[in-house]
Amino acid sequence: MRAFAVEPGARLLNVYEALFKGWNVTIPGGICYSVGIGGHIAGGGYGLLSRAHGLTVDHLYAVEVVVVDAAQHVRTVVATRDSADPNRDLWWAHAGGGGGNFGVVTKYWFRSAGATGTEPSAQLVSPPSTVLVSAVEFPWDQVTETAFTRLLNNSATGMWPTVRRPRRTPA
Ligand SMILES: Cc1cc2nc3c(=O)[nH]c(=O)nc-3n(C[C@H](O)[C@H](O)[C@H](O)COP(=O)(O)OP(=O)(O)OC[C@H]3O[C@@H](n4cnc5c(N)ncnc54)[C@H](O)[C@@H]3O)c2cc1C
Repeated sequence: MRAFAVEPGARLLNVYEALFKGWNVTIPGGICYSVGIGGHIAGGGYGLLSRAHGLTVDHLYAVEVVVVDAAQHVRTVVATRDSADPNRDLWWAHAGGGGGNFGVVTKYWFRSAGATGTEPSAQLVSPPSTVLVSAVEFPWDQVTETAFTRLLNNSATGMWPTVRRPRRTPA
């Protein structure tokens, strides 16, 4: 599949660490390291790198799912985002439809759309070399409608502390 296989019991920390140390690649998932891949990916999954790289599921190539069919037979299905795949709808359902709704996921495969070649480090986006994380707290009783509107506008127009835009590793 030219893709990184991740089993759903892994936590984000395990995935980030393995991808970064092994191949200098990543997925744009959440900042909370203890979140499980199982529910995070099926729910869409977003994080610090999402402005640059979208959701985690924008890099989801395939899922392996244990499903129960109408005859109550249990079977394992592999569904990919390939347009010719007859199971493509099942892949799509796992690209934000939420965990636990369509079966038990036993494997996720990640490969960015448009990735070429066979070099593993070219199959996913690269993490930035540095990240600036800052937190701002607002006393709720001082947040007027005007201030809240300005806050949202500033956030939407990018006047908000954010990560440096990472470069994609050339294929
Ligand atoms: C502290 C914290 C910070 C968070 N930050 C972010 C964030 O930055 N970005 C973001 O996108 N989300 C964030 N989340 C939300 C998180 O992505 C979801 O709560 C996610 O569903 C957690 O998945 P889990 O597998 O750890 O949880 P679980 O509670 O185990 O699972 C959640 C759902 O997915 C189902 N599920 C789990 N594994 C599988 C599987 N293998 N097959 C089928 N269904 C499965 C479960 O049945 C359940 O319905 C955060 C959550 C927390 C608690």
